[in-house]
Amino acid sequence: MANCAICGKRFGLIFGSSKVSATDINTARGKGIDAPDDICPGCLTALYKRAQDKRTNAINEIKDMVVREVFSKTPTEAIFSKIQEASRPLALSYLYIKDIVCQAANEIAVRDMDDGLLSEERERQIFSLLGQYKIQADDIPANIRNLLLSGEVLRNLLNCNKSPSFSTNGLPFNFQKTELLIWAGTDIPIAIPKTTSKFVGSSIGGSVRIAKGLYLRGSDFEGRRVSETSIVPLGSAIVAITSKHIYYTTRGYATGDASKRIKHEKIVSIDPYSDAIVISTDYARNNIICFYFKDPRFFMNILQNAQNWA
Ligand SMILES: [Zn+2]
Repeated sequence: MANCAICGKRFGLIFGSSKVSATDINTARGKGIDAPDDICPGCLTALYKRAQDKRTNAINEIKDMVVREVFSKTPTEAIFSKIQEASRPLALSYLYIKDIVCQAANEIAVRDMDDGLLSEERERQIFSLLGQYKIQADDIPANIRNLLLSGEVLRNLLNCNKSPSFSTNGLPFNFQKTELLIWAGTDIPIAIPKTTSKFVGSSIGGSVRIAKGLYLRGSDFEGRRVSETSIVPLGSAIVAITSKHIYYTTRGYATGDASKRIKHEKIVSIDPYSDAIVISTDYARNNIICFYFKDPRFFMNILQNAQNWA
């Protein structure tokens, strides 16, 4: 009776390990796993796992390498060769490499979007890289496509290049002839703070969270009329930003029927929070509104520069 060449456990004991069959050992070797002739199932599983981890690490290293090389402005063809070279020992399929390249492109775009704007150079690099792998626009993951689109929108706006990236088709707003659509999106949660007045014997006050980091604090006087502010979600909205207005409507969503057009000139302040922007206007009613945008800085930029297209 033999022992497992790795853990030394004896085979064949009643409560001991069995030996992995020659067929299974051959299968493992076929997958590049260096299994000895005598191995127990536990040790073979461990070898499989180690090989898998090694492969995952190697794939991550390729992705990191692509990100690094793009940031060091290595020409795309050179990056392409490096990817080929690094992926050869892993016998990765074309689809797999395509996926790694998309992941790298995403990481590059996200890192570069720190200031809300993807540079033209970076955009060119990403397209060139995707082009090497014949990755068509439709194959580009939606988040990268959005980042590229955001970059384009903001760049055109900052450069006063009146070239809309969004179509007004299908939007439920009555745009003026002279205004240009800068951005439009659906499923944007919106909310307004509502202040109500009531008499309380005593109140410890309290604050209401509007957005991450923004609290409206209630009053903490005793036995008097106090006003209480609460945040009222209006539901999801379709939102459009044009050179003249912000439009929003919750029509078409289950939650309600709020529609409004805010003139850029009526906006007094725009406050960005980590998950929202809060717009204060000098309209008499409902003069504060919260838009829960995933990328508040981008919208802050758009709104501050929207009139460049006016
Ligand atoms: Zn063993």
